[in-house]
Amino acid sequence: MRLPSFIQENIPLGDKNWFGTGGNAQYFATPKNHDEFSQALNFAHAHKRPITLIGQGANMLISDDGVEGLVIQPNLNNITIIDDQLVTAGAGVTMQDLINFCLDHNLIGLEEFSGIPGTVGGSVFINLHYFQFLLSHFLVSAHVMHQQTGEIINVDNTWFNFGYNDSTLHHKPYYVLDATFKLTKVSEIECAYARGRSAEIIRHRTARYPSKNTCGSFFRNFHAHEVSLESNGKKMIHVAYYLDKIGVKGALKVGNAMVSWQHANMIVNCGNATTQDIVDVARKMQKLVKEHFGIMPQTECRLVGFKHFPLKTE
Ligand SMILES: Cc1cc2nc3c(=O)[nH]c(=O)nc-3n(C[C@H](O)[C@H](O)[C@H](O)COP(=O)(O)OP(=O)(O)OC[C@H]3O[C@@H](n4cnc5c(N)ncnc54)[C@H](O)[C@@H]3O)c2cc1C
Repeated sequence: MRLPSFIQENIPLGDKNWFGTGGNAQYFATPKNHDEFSQALNFAHAHKRPITLIGQGANMLISDDGVEGLVIQPNLNNITIIDDQLVTAGAGVTMQDLINFCLDHNLIGLEEFSGIPGTVGGSVFINLHYFQFLLSHFLVSAHVMHQQTGEIINVDNTWFNFGYNDSTLHHKPYYVLDATFKLTKVSEIECAYARGRSAEIIRHRTARYPSKNTCGSFFRNFHAHEVSLESNGKKMIHVAYYLDKIGVKGALKVGNAMVSWQHANMIVNCGNATTQDIVDVARKMQKLVKEHFGIMPQTECRLVGFKHFPLKTE
């Protein structure tokens, strides 16, 4: 089979995700413009191969057996200021590069997401969140490509139907090519404060959470209707609360994967863990929460390349 120059065969994915585990991609493409992106889709369709999109793999657990078909990691890295307050960034731009670019141009807002790994594409997909801040508060529009036809459309914020950990992209066959964000133009001095806040958020995050060999929160928080426990009249939706109560933090371990000592909802690869080790830890976490509280944690992390979903769904 003749491959376009930007598609390679049998490429390891262990160094392309934050857990640092997983097997190889059967095919791997890094399109650097829309034309190459569409050629990559055509290649996969012509050879009847499934397609998987990957950003920085910061919210992903890749099967030890690897990923069948074509894995696309968009190499779309342009950032453009459209007018005083609007900035467009390609799907492959990392959030931190975008934040730094904005601060360099006295544009503030996105620094609330400082220190969170990931690309613009993956962050729009999940609707990146930190405390009360959601990426959807800033997104104005985006270009998305249809997964089958390759047609590119320009869509606005409402098209995404954003929710907590959710967007249209979970349900509709589109890939993000770029996104445009509305920020606030400020003076030099106000921007200096925003830089300080950015540095403080990173300091705070580093003290509270593991910053590598993890996917961040493994399970999503519960929806209010899924839990009955309340504190001060508020539903206890934080999955870490329940995991903490059980005492898994820094204690539950399988092979070389364990629950972080810093955060009860973060699993870390302590050295050369396999994906199976991580799955086994996650299964035990689910089982313990179900046994103790009667509720089943569900993944926030995207599991990729598995023939059968290896965790409990109910
Ligand atoms: C240490 C650490 C801390 C974290 N803290 C937070 C946090 O505070 N808040 C938070 O919300 N998240 C957090 N995360 C999770 C992660 O940073 C985000 O989910 C991030 O947006 C993932 O981006 P990514 O590019 O790596 O996506 P990936 O993990 O590569 O992909 C995630 C999903 O997005 C899809 N996707 C990727 N690119 C595109 C595209 N162009 N078009 C359509 N779909 C696409 C993928 O197919 C996949 O389903 C953390 C992760 C780590 C490792």
